[in-house]
Amino acid sequence: MTISYEDMENFLVCPRRYYLSKKISKEVSPNFSEELMEAGFPLENPVIVCEFEGHGLVSNPDLVVKERDGWRIILRKNAKRFKDKYILESAYHALVFSKAGLKVSGVEIVSDSFSRKMENWKNLIPIVEDVLREMLTLDDDPHPRVGKHCRYCDFLEDCEGKLLEEKSLLLVNGIGEETYRVLYGMGIETLEDLAGADQRILEKVFGKEKGKRFIMAARAFLENRVIMITPPEDLPEGTIVDIEYHPAEESDFLYGFLIGDEYRYFLEEDQGDLIAFLNSLDDESVFYHYHGPEKRKLISLIGRNKRMNFLDVFSILRNHFVFPVMSYSLKRIAKYLGYDWRTSLNGYEILRLYEKWKKTRNEELLKQMLLYNEDDVRATKLVLDFMRSYSSFS
Ligand code: SF4
Repeated sequence: MTISYEDMENFLVCPRRYYLSKKISKEVSPNFSEELMEAGFPLENPVIVCEFEGHGLVSNPDLVVKERDGWRIILRKNAKRFKDKYILESAYHALVFSKAGLKVSGVEIVSDSFSRKMENWKNLIPIVEDVLREMLTLDDDPHPRVGKHCRYCDFLEDCEGKLLEEKSLLLVNGIGEETYRVLYGMGIETLEDLAGADQRILEKVFGKEKGKRFIMAARAFLENRVIMITPPEDLPEGTIVDIEYHPAEESDFLYGFLIGDEYRYFLEEDQGDLIAFLNSLDDESVFYHYHGPEKRKLISLIGRNKRMNFLDVFSILRNHFVFPVMSYSLKRIAKYLGYDWRTSLNGYEILRLYEKWKKTRNEELLKQMLLYNEDDVRATKLVLDFMRSYSSFS
């Protein structure tokens, strides 16, 4: 087995995510030549492999530069601010280089906004080694470590299945470790306990909305069905919008619209066309979006002279329905309703894809980005249609 830094990061966030992803990890080989390294040229993206306790470790930094006293490893980031986790990452890469027989003169983290030379990576090597040993001895399927990080995880449904077997309270959206402990203290240990709990007591402890919702969610899971809280209002026809945003670059790189059944998109560089398109729409046009800042962004593009109405599908859904799912992300909800996603990309991967496309302008990468965005607006439409089928009850 070969371990990369991404594997280690996965393990630290959730050991189960690492455990499940390592089953599909691929073997890698070094891509540098001894001669090239000897010649001392700076190298972009070298793949360095070393052996660690009978297994492989791989390091693939952005750049290495030969200095008098060894190799300087440079890791490029898109983030605006330095993050503490980069310290451990530096130590990981330095460990792989050292074990591969390449002396390390320093590690540097650089972005457009900061540059930091890592001083203490050597002190962290024993910690990295301990984490790696834990990873290598992980034989049994670990328990899900539920948290916000689950939202974009590829194994969400797998974990739902596992937690459902245990009738675990952690399935319920809004029950984190703290709430779990409080419920446990109240003698509520399983979904069955929660489904049968005294609503007045839960409302007193957690507030009216949460208390009621927890009980409904437990029932939704046990009966494997969607529970309607109240019927939604009539939902008028409108345009569905989804904007892909790159947080580190603070840029909206792709705007997607679904008008009737027609998908239209605008790239960041087509802002003039986008504004013309928005201005061509009728006054009082209705826009639907799933969570996100689409309303603020479109208003900031065309100003308040044109009246547009925005409806958040996510908020309407949460106010009127309880689903037997751990996350109300569009991906999970639409999948529950039967949407067949054409790409397996997640929210993190689309950013990496965009970064690659920006550098290469590769048509295939653009196609994948568009497919991802089009799926988002079409999936939002499916959720909207699902709610419309209930609004006649109102
Ligand atoms: S869904 Fe959450 S708990 Fe499950 S593997 Fe992914 S990150 Fe871990």
